[in-house]
Amino acid sequence: MKFGTKAIHAGVEPDPTTGAIMTPIYQTSTYVQESPGKHKGYEYSRTHNPTRTALQNALAALENGKHGICYASGLAATDAVLKLFRPGDEIIATNDIYGGTYRIMKRIFEPLGLVFHFVDMSDVDNIKKVCTANTKLVWIETPTNPLLRIIDIKAITDLCRKKGIYSAVDNTFASPYLQNPLDMGTDIVMHSVTKYLGGHSDTVMGALIVNDDALAKQLAFIQNATGAVPGPQDCFLVLRGIKTLHIRMQRHCENAMLVAQWLSCHPKVANVYYPGLSSHPGHTLAKQQMRGFGGMLSFELKGDIYGEAVAVMENLKVFSLGESLGGVESLCTHPASMTHASIPKEEREKVGLKDTLIRLSVGIEDVEDLIADLAQAIG
Ligand SMILES: *Cc1c(COP(=O)(O)O)cnc(C)c1O
Repeated sequence: MKFGTKAIHAGVEPDPTTGAIMTPIYQTSTYVQESPGKHKGYEYSRTHNPTRTALQNALAALENGKHGICYASGLAATDAVLKLFRPGDEIIATNDIYGGTYRIMKRIFEPLGLVFHFVDMSDVDNIKKVCTANTKLVWIETPTNPLLRIIDIKAITDLCRKKGIYSAVDNTFASPYLQNPLDMGTDIVMHSVTKYLGGHSDTVMGALIVNDDALAKQLAFIQNATGAVPGPQDCFLVLRGIKTLHIRMQRHCENAMLVAQWLSCHPKVANVYYPGLSSHPGHTLAKQQMRGFGGMLSFELKGDIYGEAVAVMENLKVFSLGESLGGVESLCTHPASMTHASIPKEEREKVGLKDTLIRLSVGIEDVEDLIADLAQAIG
């Protein structure tokens, strides 16, 4: 089945009791058993819930994976992955990473004994340099947030396979429509479902998709034992959201490309970070490993004056100033004070994240209105 058909049909079947075409919201904590241990596959909703099962199967299908597991948030999904490891185990992660991922690694798991190395993954040799006998996982995020760098998933996954190390990709920015890491050999795909998969800025959720049965079993154990599950209402909203994922992503990509091209010709704009621009250092790699360039971009104004960047963000009207991304409506974010405030300023500057950087999540409105809004805000 091709992607759009899967987005609409995968994982969902007419409800067996009524024939309802849409998976019902099974708002129940428990399930009646005929006799002790004799039941229809459902015992308690922390362990399984039919609305969640439908969504997990749909997400697995979209990532060409065997097993999908949903969590209460993207970070709860990351938390579950990190709980696979023990004190002394070492993890290598992308240095230009989502702020919350950095925070959970440094502030929660490092004090518990895991050892982290944050490296520039644009060069695979940087990973080899910090690999030891204790390295257990390489955590990739691509395109990176907020600088939209592109990391070679296949090259890193091949290295991990050779060394017997797990590889994981945070695929939030690309969404399964643009990139499928499992097809490149990655062990674990992670999503903040909150973003493009949900697509309507109305739900917080996370997911992991894996192929390996034993790994899926371990993760399901962690999910049930620690309990970070999403509710059935939220699962329903995401099931609805993903039915239009392919159509939304097409428009996100088209609009972002036009906005990026417009910004890069603007006399007041210094740098535009968008992998779809041929001037972007990751453009060739993005063309190889992605089916489009996505809806996210960042830019800086000439002169690098903090007050001027703030004024643009305040002046935007169609773009709303807020955290998050991937919804149908356009958003504008100031990474240094918002999404990446949990990364120390020195660390931010090391990876090239300036306090004057503006990040846009380009929505699916009419692009003429988005460009007109930027024109009036930049002046
Ligand atoms: C938002 C986000 C997360 C965290 O997901 P939540 O659903 O907010 O917990 C992780 N990675 C990336 C790239 C994100 O954008």
